Amino acid sequence: MSPNHALLEDKITTEEAEPRYFIDQDWYRESERSLAALVQGRLCPACRSRLGTGKGQDLADSTLASVAECCSKSEGFFAPRLPVMESVFRLFLANGNQPLNVEEIWAQLLEMRGGSPLGLSPPVLRRLIDSDRYYGLRPLPQEPASE
Ligand SMILES: [Zn+2]
Repeated sequence: MSPNHALLEDKITTEEAEPRYFIDQDWYRESERSLAALVQGRLCPACRSRLGTGKGQDLADSTLASVAECCSKSEGFFAPRLPVMESVFRLFLANGNQPLNVEEIWAQLLEMRGGSPLGLSPPVLRRLIDSDRYYGLRPLPQEPASE
């Protein structure tokens, strides 16, 4: 949808293997935490009442789909005052959990916040993401290099 998507994809294929992060549902299973429960707090009121009943993996899937298709487009979803890691989590909710490297996350955060400064640099953002124990963000396992 955004004109940046083509550019970003180009970058991914030509760049050295920077780790790309995503919301790892295995982490939630291993940690015995519920992704659906965490995401439910980010749903708009309509989706929250619609998804009120449901269980387990089905609920996680339908919650993720709803937030990507509906709630992430509502005003205030990317409020500039949100903590950085909350914004990162919402970014992945909005893009359907498409893996992104730190530079991409950083650039998209700036865009989401309408250019309002983040107050941190990409290396600091990376440290925040690497030390995350709340949102289940983990690096995508890398494919072995083909050369
Ligand atoms: Zn919604």
